[in-house]
Amino acid sequence: MVHEGDSLKIDSFPGGPFQENGYLVECLATGALAVIDPGHTAPEIVAAIGGRAARVEAIYLTHGHLDHVEGLPVVRESIDAPIHLHPADRFLYEGAVEQARAFGLPSPGPMPPIDAELNPGTPVPLGDTSFEVRFAPGHAPGHVIFHHTGDGVALVGDVIFHRSIGRTDLPGGSMQELMESIRREVLSLPDDTRLFTGHGPPTTVGGERMGNPFLISQARGGAGEFA
Ligand SMILES: [Zn+2]
Ligand SMILES: [Zn+2]
Repeated sequence: MVHEGDSLKIDSFPGGPFQENGYLVECLATGALAVIDPGHTAPEIVAAIGGRAARVEAIYLTHGHLDHVEGLPVVRESIDAPIHLHPADRFLYEGAVEQARAFGLPSPGPMPPIDAELNPGTPVPLGDTSFEVRFAPGHAPGHVIFHHTGDGVALVGDVIFHRSIGRTDLPGGSMQELMESIRREVLSLPDDTRLFTGHGPPTTVGGERMGNPFLISQARGGAGEFA
């Protein structure tokens, strides 16, 4: 367990060749569950859900890269909840088998269809609470962040990491867009917001504002590129 607040409990499941973090999120008031970015560790996520499969309300994807979606065929065997993705990443999702080939990895198998589109600005529900959906392209063209205001947490996928940022050399990536996304959708959050990232340990907005070498001009107020 990486987080337990007023509204949410969050567990992380790191693993696989990319050490991707899959997440299981629970609404404490209702027991409703959401799976976020089920990758290599999907069997562990399914095991943690156990007999609560009917409580899984949704599968939310930050973006369509293989390491964040490769567990969906496994999840789909026992969990019927709708899969949500931003439409701009659909081409990545539908190319998951080609992504695996490009990385020399085993095919994830036929991917289940996307059931619903994420619309930035339209919150997504979990039990009696919800997440704000923030559009943060640059690492992937349809990348979103799931932010919970009350608990002060955000699941940020591969936009920003502890002292690093997402790569921008994959199809649809853009360094300029990523930097704009970080400024607009991450650094605008309160400094004590905890960030649960797609790879590596959690961090905070304030920690990255001051300590992230890619954002250092912001911390020093120097170049002002991110002001
Ligand atoms: Zn990615
Ligand atoms: Zn990733």
